[in-house]
Amino acid sequence: MAKTARTGREKIVGASGAADAETGSPAESGPETASDVTPGTALRSPAIVPTGTAEDGRLGNALRPRRFDEYVGQTAVVDSITVAVMAASQRGEALDHVLLHGPPGLGKTTIAHIIAREMESRLVHTSGPAMERPADVVGILSNLGERDVLFIDEIHRLSSAVEEYLYSAMEDFRVDFTTGQGAFAKTINLPLHPFTLIGSTTRVGMLSAPLRDRFGLVYHLDYYTEEQLTLVVQRSAKILDVQISDSGASEIARRSRGTPRIANRLLRRVRDFAQVRHDGVIDAEIGKNALLLEGVDHLGLDRLDRLYLETLARNYDGGPAGVNALAATLNEEQQTLEDVVEPYLLKIGFILRTTQGRRTTPEGAKHAGVVQALGTTLKSDPQQTRFL
Ligand code: ADP
Repeated sequence: MAKTARTGREKIVGASGAADAETGSPAESGPETASDVTPGTALRSPAIVPTGTAEDGRLGNALRPRRFDEYVGQTAVVDSITVAVMAASQRGEALDHVLLHGPPGLGKTTIAHIIAREMESRLVHTSGPAMERPADVVGILSNLGERDVLFIDEIHRLSSAVEEYLYSAMEDFRVDFTTGQGAFAKTINLPLHPFTLIGSTTRVGMLSAPLRDRFGLVYHLDYYTEEQLTLVVQRSAKILDVQISDSGASEIARRSRGTPRIANRLLRRVRDFAQVRHDGVIDAEIGKNALLLEGVDHLGLDRLDRLYLETLARNYDGGPAGVNALAATLNEEQQTLEDVVEPYLLKIGFILRTTQGRRTTPEGAKHAGVVQALGTTLKSDPQQTRFL
C-alpha cells in the first residue's frame, strides 16, 4: 500500500518519512513479519536522515539532475546502471545492490536519487554514522517496502555490529535479532521485502570484504573534465536564470577541481559578484576576478590546498610527512585532508602518497612557491614511491 503513494517520481523519505511510517498502518509501513513482532512498532529509528546536505542547500537540490539524460559525464557508469535498472524493472525485481565510490561532490547521491526515480521506488536516505545501534538498522530495514531504495551515505563509517545485520538483509532479505537478555533472550527472524541498498563512500578501501562482496554493482566515479564541467555550469546557469558566456562557463569549470558540486558553488559566488559589481552577466574576466576574490587560483586550488602544499614543502622539507602530523600543523581534521584536499592534489600530480608518508612533487612545491630539491631524489629511487 505504501506504493499507492508513489507518483512515478521517487518518494524521498527523510526524517519526515519516518513520521509517515509512524502513522501508516502496519501493512503500509512494514514487511511481513515474524509472528512475535508487531509490524511497524518498536523498530523505528532516528537514523533516517533528511536528504540533501547543508552544503548543497536549497539551490543545490534545485540543481541536482533528476534523470540520467540530465546527468553530465560518467558515461560508462550511467550506461551500465541504465541497463541494470531497465532489466530489473522489466522483471519486476529490485535492482541489485549498488556501491558508488569516489571523491565527494562527484554525483553519487544524485545517482541514487535517479535510480530510485527510474525504478519508481521510494528512497530512504541515511548515513553510516547515523546508524549507530543495531536497533537503528533493524528499524529502517523493517520499514522498507518492496523494491524500495535504501541509500547509505558514508557507508564506510558503519560500525561492525550494525554491518553484521546488513549481511543477511542484503543476501537473503532477512534480519535476525535478539531481544531480552540471559535466560529471556529470544532470537527473532524478520523477513524483509526485497530492496536495493545503495552505498556511497569516499573510502572504498575501508569497507570490509564481506560487505563489499555483497554489492552486485560497483562503480567508481572519477573527476570530470573541463568540458563536462562547462556543461554542468551552463546547465546550472540556465536553472538559476543567469546569463553566462561560453568563456565565462569554462573559466569557472577550469577552477572547479573536476567536481560538479564545486562548479555549482563557484557559479553562485560569481553570480553574486557579477550582480553586485557588474550588470549580472558573467564573462571570462568577471569569472576570473570573482574567483580570485574567493581565493581560488587558476588551477582551482583554494587556500587550504595551497597551505597544505606549502606546509609539506616548507615545514616538512617536501616530506615524507604523516597525514596526522600535517592535520595537526594545519589545525584541520585529518578526514578533511584525506577526503577533500589530497585526492585532487594526487590527481594533478602535486603530491605523492608513499609508504613513508606524503611528499610534494617538484610541481607541487613550485606551485606553493617553494623550490624543492627532493624531486630528483624521488625520481632516482622509484622503490620509495609506492602509491597507496
Ligand atoms: P556526492 O554524493 O558524490 O558527494 P552529489 O550527488 O551530492 O555528490 O552531487 C553534488 C551536486 O553536484 C549535485 O547537487 C548536483 O547539482 C551536482 N552534480 C553532481 N553530479 C552531476 C552531474 N553528473 N551532472 C550535473 N550535475 C551534477
